[in-house]
Amino acid sequence: MCTCRSHRWSALFGLPLEDATHSCLSGELPLGRRDWLAAVGSAAAWVMASPSLAATKLYGTPVQYDFVSSGVVKGSQTTIQMPDGSLDVRYEFIDRGRGPKLRSTIRCDETGFISSLHTTGYNYLKVAVNERFTFRNGTASWQNSVEQQTHRNASPRFYISMEGTPEEGAIMVRAALRAQNASLPLWPSGLTKVVAVKTIAVGNGRASTRVTMYEASGLDFAPVNLWLDENNELFMSGISWGAVIRSGWSSVLAQLLDAQNERVAELGRQLARSLPQRFGTAIAVTNVSLFDSQRGVIVPDATVVFHGDTIASVGASDAAVPRDARRIDGTNKTLLPGLWNMHMHTFAGFGPRLLAEGVTTIRDPGNNPEYIAKTKAQFESGELIGPRVIIAGLVDGTGKYTAPIGATTATVDEAIEHVRMYKKLGAVQIKIYSSIDPKLVPTIVKEAHAQGMRVSGHIPAGMLAQDAVHEGFDEIQHVNFLFLNFMPDTMNFTQTPIRLTATAERAGTIDLQSQPVKDFIALLKSKEIVSDPTVGIFYTDTLTRTGDLASTGFAEIAGWLPVQVSRTLTTGGLPLGPGLDGKYRASAQAYLDMVALLHANGIRIVAGTDDVLPGFDLIHELELYAQAGIRNAQVLQAATIVPARVMHMDDTLGSLDPGKLADAIVVHGNPLEEISQLRNVGTTIKGGVMYDTRALYASCGVRATPV
Ligand SMILES: [Zn+2]
Ligand SMILES: [Zn+2]
Repeated sequence: MCTCRSHRWSALFGLPLEDATHSCLSGELPLGRRDWLAAVGSAAAWVMASPSLAATKLYGTPVQYDFVSSGVVKGSQTTIQMPDGSLDVRYEFIDRGRGPKLRSTIRCDETGFISSLHTTGYNYLKVAVNERFTFRNGTASWQNSVEQQTHRNASPRFYISMEGTPEEGAIMVRAALRAQNASLPLWPSGLTKVVAVKTIAVGNGRASTRVTMYEASGLDFAPVNLWLDENNELFMSGISWGAVIRSGWSSVLAQLLDAQNERVAELGRQLARSLPQRFGTAIAVTNVSLFDSQRGVIVPDATVVFHGDTIASVGASDAAVPRDARRIDGTNKTLLPGLWNMHMHTFAGFGPRLLAEGVTTIRDPGNNPEYIAKTKAQFESGELIGPRVIIAGLVDGTGKYTAPIGATTATVDEAIEHVRMYKKLGAVQIKIYSSIDPKLVPTIVKEAHAQGMRVSGHIPAGMLAQDAVHEGFDEIQHVNFLFLNFMPDTMNFTQTPIRLTATAERAGTIDLQSQPVKDFIALLKSKEIVSDPTVGIFYTDTLTRTGDLASTGFAEIAGWLPVQVSRTLTTGGLPLGPGLDGKYRASAQAYLDMVALLHANGIRIVAGTDDVLPGFDLIHELELYAQAGIRNAQVLQAATIVPARVMHMDDTLGSLDPGKLADAIVVHGNPLEEISQLRNVGTTIKGGVMYDTRALYASCGVRATPV
């Protein structure tokens, strides 16, 4: 969430992709690294964009749109049809200092495909944009911030801009409506299919018109919605975070967004009716290699029977298998407890992807309180598909860098009140955030412990990790705070991005064999502190290089992803200043070394990801633990029995023992030999309900390799 971490800026038609806009951040957007550090690019982009706008002569009639966010007009789109048939599109909005300013010239051919496009200006994070596409005489070529490609003898495809405007969504829908099956092959890859969902009449008091909601698949994990008017011109494109709508019609925006949200909810309910496989009988996995998470060993040729929502038996033969049981042949497969992701800021739409990854329990360490309580209930009731949810309530102080969850905590009374509010909501843990006043920490810890809740968190600005341990923290989130313990010069500024940049630049210079580090580790051990290192996010942030897929850690599954998600994978990462490459690489190794050191000293590690790429990132996190040198069996324990014990839920979860809840995954191959084998989860069982993981992935536009 937000300043926990960096976030890649991935946009489609001028608006953020789904993952970038969880509900916890409605009206907010995760702050990108580049945000803080791209001031130079910003100034350059202004100079490029502004004079050319002023110099242009306007032909035709401009069609005017407002950009509306939280009920306030914060920008505009203007589309002008030029005499030569091309479109001149200007798009800009301002969102607390961020926001794009783009100008596109777009030509379409007679089939409605884009034949040339040129976009200049800067994007949401104020990074300069200069994107071009042409398709001429069978040659498609384009360049943007990440790609530079030429394809000769190519058949026509529709080009999706890296940094486009809402207008391009309408151009795409119009092209699709003229194409066979309303489907379009896309540059750089993939396919979109457009369907008309519904047409409704709207009125603004002066006029009325009919507008149609379209839905385009294949671009993002969820279908993208867009509204056209009776002339097939753009009417509205957006989400509650922000939307463009025809000027003069913002009074109907809420109605259109409601219709979209209802559609999203209906699609979610449809999945919840079609994907779960419920058998009125037992499920038996026979002749399987069973991962005994308590002992960290494989038990060969086991047979496990699930009945109802619990594990009925675990045995060496199928003697206990009821005759009418649904059997799964476990030959050459491994049966493991359902996986845990201990750091996932949840969005309801993540549900199917998380189960597809094998994750049956998540801990949410910071979200809008009402939203997370509602989502947890929807997953539990089966209204929506998703894992079990454990709530850790986030408390943060005031100031410029406060987490966008609603309430802030500034007084002793508020501290007590907010802990009790979370307790009522069902939270079992409090997560302290970076801007909390250190003077309030003892109150929060005392009240949380009195309520039987755990306490974890960021280390608040003004404190070091060792101080937080002495104040009664049970757990420290994020590996960077362990390094910051040895950078006291940053102590008063860690509510700012310094907590990310200082560690990226200096973690590699900390001697992990030094006496101060040894003393600190001994302190963590003596207080039985748990670490939720989310090492993957720090590792990829320091190593991701623009345009280099291998550097992201997700090369193996990039081809599975919807086009706009996969091509923006390499846009994350910290900006590379002079001399930083080597420092970043040293720090990336230091993160892994720290994880290995914690583990070697008996400090419990729980696997969490902080939403690097929900549905794919837990396995990457586990791969990094293995890369750090932790044995695979113990890596798997960090995502099964260890989190269950830490959360005091090991009486029902975390291992495959009779009487425990029926949460398990069937993996083709053996992840004890190679952690990456976890990508071959074929079946996920949660509470005795079975899911085909490939069908789960397909439901969100992910084309996983069959297992
Ligand atoms: Zn965090
Ligand atoms: Zn987080």
